[in-house]
Amino acid sequence: MDAAFAAAMRPAFAGDIARNQGMPRYDLQLWIAPASGALTGTEQIRYTNRTGAPLNDIALRLYPNFPTDVFGKGGDVRMDVSDVTADGQAIAPRLVAQDTAVLLDLPQPLGPGASTTLALSFRASIVAWRDGSFPLPSYYPMLAVREGDAWRLDVTRFADHVYAESAFYAATITAPSDLTVIASGSTIGEAQNADGTTTRLVRTGPVREFALAAGNFARAQAAAGDVAVNVYTERGTGLDAAQVARVAAAALADFDRRFGAYPYAELDIQLLPYEYDGGDEFPGLIMLYAGGAVGAGTRYVTAHEVAHQWWYGVAGNDIFRQPWLDEALAQYSGILYAEDVAGPAVAEADWQREVARRYRGALADGNLPIGLAIDEYPSFNVYYRTVYGKGPVFLRTLREQLGDAAFFTALQDYYTRNRYGVGTTASFQQACEQASGQPLGALFAEWVGRSAAP
Ligand SMILES: [Zn+2]
Repeated sequence: MDAAFAAAMRPAFAGDIARNQGMPRYDLQLWIAPASGALTGTEQIRYTNRTGAPLNDIALRLYPNFPTDVFGKGGDVRMDVSDVTADGQAIAPRLVAQDTAVLLDLPQPLGPGASTTLALSFRASIVAWRDGSFPLPSYYPMLAVREGDAWRLDVTRFADHVYAESAFYAATITAPSDLTVIASGSTIGEAQNADGTTTRLVRTGPVREFALAAGNFARAQAAAGDVAVNVYTERGTGLDAAQVARVAAAALADFDRRFGAYPYAELDIQLLPYEYDGGDEFPGLIMLYAGGAVGAGTRYVTAHEVAHQWWYGVAGNDIFRQPWLDEALAQYSGILYAEDVAGPAVAEADWQREVARRYRGALADGNLPIGLAIDEYPSFNVYYRTVYGKGPVFLRTLREQLGDAAFFTALQDYYTRNRYGVGTTASFQQACEQASGQPLGALFAEWVGRSAAP
């Protein structure tokens, strides 16, 4: 691990690189060719078996192959892998899970604690967004999560797809020189090539996944302490990137104080035009959609998506089985941001618009628990109203019961204990019980709906 990885971290967290050497390391070489509608790449993954049991195979997710989601996004591109080897020995990849994963049968079992180097080539089609830019999140074969004796190969049509464990990324990204490429982590070098392309070198700290985007971007900048906040938007969209940068930096500073430190040196946002305000969270790079002028809705969504850097990004969770952990926390964090930065009147207006309305819907839907797996909700809309509406009502109820001091201590403890890891409902309940000294089994059973006793 070369010293350049430290460039992706705030100085106080540079030591996290040496401390997490057991995590996978990806080396990506990517070529973005909009003219041919393709992204091609080579990938090496240095993988250590930390499962405690021998592995006969390793699964890689091909997230671009997920079916069209409930918003009509995706389903229009295709990724394939070739030339796969493990420690130099050829492997025939097997497509599984509706082509959203490949299983790689290892030439010999990988024992607990043993390491292997996977190498492969891949090619994927790319499609421009309506503004002409190329948002390319999760655009490489990504290690699946091992659970018990199986790989998690969930497929969903809901909006969020990625369940992954933290890893280091060293990426070399080449694209036509008239495009700007932005990515998770930090760019540590850039060189123009004779053929009209530019190659960028990127490093990340421990991150849950790697996202990138290419476009003819204008940039607005802000800062939260020593963290740089960059907002990029395709030239000509007319979207107010400067205002989003100010909101994102203020939210980052607020959550830094409330929840614990953001460990990375920068946060990028791509601001895209869309029918309504929304966002997709990726570590270090948020895709933020603005439905028009940057208004109250955009401000709230910006805070929600920035909060995902804590909830999902650094402190991960199983987004398929316990999606409330990151989504309810991000929703409530948006309210906290308004409370801290804009005052109680704005926070109350946000609460009515973003939470209370959806909570009424969740009650009308049958008042389901917030802690179900995504496929246990009868539809995306019921899931959405329950987790995004009832979820923050639960967190506000919890805050009232615990008091501010214990509630925020619990959030900080949950964040710290699950840093670069995967939190659970049980670990969240435990943090709340320890911070408050109160048994909370009944409250969690009533709202979250699963016995979360540790
Ligand atoms: Zn969210």
